[in-house]
Amino acid sequence: MVSVELPRVVVDPLPPIVSRLLAGHVECVPWEAVRAGEKRPVDGVYSYGHQAVDGPWLDRLTGVRVISNHGVGVDHIDLDAATARGIPVGHTPGVLDGATADMGFALLLAAARRLIVGDRFARGPDFNHYDPGKLLGLEVHGQTIGIVGLGRIGLHVARRAAGFDMRILYHNRRPRTDLPAGLNAEYRDLDELLAQSDFVMLCVPLGPETAGLIGRAQLARMKPTAVLVNIARGGVVDTEALTDALRDRRIDAAALDVTDPEPLPRDHPLLASEHLVIAPHLGSATEQTRQAMAELSVENLLRGLRGQALLHQANGSLGVSTP
Ligand code: NAP
Repeated sequence: MVSVELPRVVVDPLPPIVSRLLAGHVECVPWEAVRAGEKRPVDGVYSYGHQAVDGPWLDRLTGVRVISNHGVGVDHIDLDAATARGIPVGHTPGVLDGATADMGFALLLAAARRLIVGDRFARGPDFNHYDPGKLLGLEVHGQTIGIVGLGRIGLHVARRAAGFDMRILYHNRRPRTDLPAGLNAEYRDLDELLAQSDFVMLCVPLGPETAGLIGRAQLARMKPTAVLVNIARGGVVDTEALTDALRDRRIDAAALDVTDPEPLPRDHPLLASEHLVIAPHLGSATEQTRQAMAELSVENLLRGLRGQALLHQANGSLGVSTP
C-alpha cells in the first residue's frame, strides 16, 4: 500500500465539526508542538481559539503556505507579519453576520428590559406578587440606536433596528454611499453619535485605530440613560473606564459579548455590576453558523495548501483576489 503524505497543519484543539472536515486532508500538529528556539516544517496554520499569531511565532515555522482563521475577526493575527512572509490569511466574513447581529439585539433587549435581573427575581423567594412598579426598563422601539461600524454585521443590526422602528445613526471612517434602498441610516461623527444615541452598538474590527475607541471621554459623552452594547472585540472598550462608568451610573447599562481581557478575572469588579449583561463570546454561536464557518475556514485552508486563491483573504495585499 502506498502511503500518501498529508500536509501538516498547526491546529488549536478543535471541535468535532472541524476535525471531521479536516480528516483525511491534513495531518494535525498541536499548537504546543511549536516551540521557541526550534524550526518546525509545516504547510499551514488553522487558527480556531484566537491564539496569537505574530512574526516571532511564525518564524518558528518553515514552509507555511496559508493561515486559515475560523472567524472573521483577525485581530489576533499580525497581518503585516503574514504578508511580509508571503502567507495569505483566510477568514470567514459574511456567514456569521445574521447570528452576530441577533446576539447584539438579544443583549440590547436583555439590558434594556432587565431580563437577567428579572429572571433571577422570578426564580427567587421574593417574587410573591405582581408589582407594576418593579424592574422598570428602557423603551427600545422608537428609540435611537448608534451603530459604530456599519459594515457587514452592522448592516444586519441596522435591519433589526428598523424592525423595531428605531432611528438609526452610524459611524464609520467615512459615510457609506451604498446603503441598501429603504434603509434610513444617518451618518454622524463619533462624538455626535454617542451624544444622540439611546443604544450604542459596537461592530468595528479591533485594530490600532479602534483599540480603546470607547474610553472615559466617550463614555462621558453618552446619555446617562444609554446602553453600550459590544459585539465587536473587548479591546474596543477601555474596561476600567467602563467599570467606573457603570459604578458611577454615568450610563445606564452595558451589554457585552466580548471583554478585554477575555475572560475577565473572576474577581473583576465589572462582573459584580448589576448594570452589566454579559455573554461568553457567543456572537456566532449557533449550530448553522458554526457549521458554515467551519466549512468556509477549511475550504480556505485547503485552497491555500493547494496554492489556490482563498475564498476570503484578510490580507488582500498579496495580489490574490478577495471576493
Ligand atoms: P466589516 O464588514 O469590515 O465592518 C466593519 C465596519 O467598521 C466597516 O463599516 C468599517 O467602515 C468600520 N470601521 C473600520 N474601522 C473603523 C474605525 N477606525 N472607525 C470607525 N469605523 C471603522 O466587518 P464585520 O464582518 O461586520 O465584522 C466586524 C467585527 O465584528 C469583526 O472584525 C470581529 O472582530 C467582530 N465579530 C464579533 C463576533 C462575536 O462573536 N462577538 C462575531 C463576528 C465578528 P470604514 O472602513 O468605512 O471605516
